Amino acid sequence: MTSQTNSRQTGSPYLEGLAAGVVRYQCCDHCGAWQPGVRLACHTCGSAALRWQDASGHATVYAVTEVTRAPTDAFRELAPYTLVVAALDEGPRVMGHAEPGTCQEFRVLRSVKRSQLMAAVNRSPNRMAN
Ligand SMILES: [Zn+2]
Repeated sequence: MTSQTNSRQTGSPYLEGLAAGVVRYQCCDHCGAWQPGVRLACHTCGSAALRWQDASGHATVYAVTEVTRAPTDAFRELAPYTLVVAALDEGPRVMGHAEPGTCQEFRVLRSVKRSQLMAAVNRSPNRMAN
């Protein structure tokens, strides 16, 4: 576990998963649909029977870009950074920051494995999942 991981606040299954090296997403027990973001009810059937599922750790790069100019003061310290959006094999998309200068590597590498995905998601300051 890195010091960055240790300093994170937990309390959500998503953040606890990241701390444990796993990307998690919500899934409906009633219809099986994965949920975009965090939901109180299934976006497909309306059921409140949602559970957290561990992703396999495999994903496909959906979009990648090198950010050299921070959009806000909160990101200024991080720039330049590589922003990666990847679609988990299970369906949900996640966004994260990869090592600066790795944009071309992600463009060539369309399929990412758990370690690359975790490195990108763990570096993201907002750690949002969609
Ligand atoms: Zn459902």
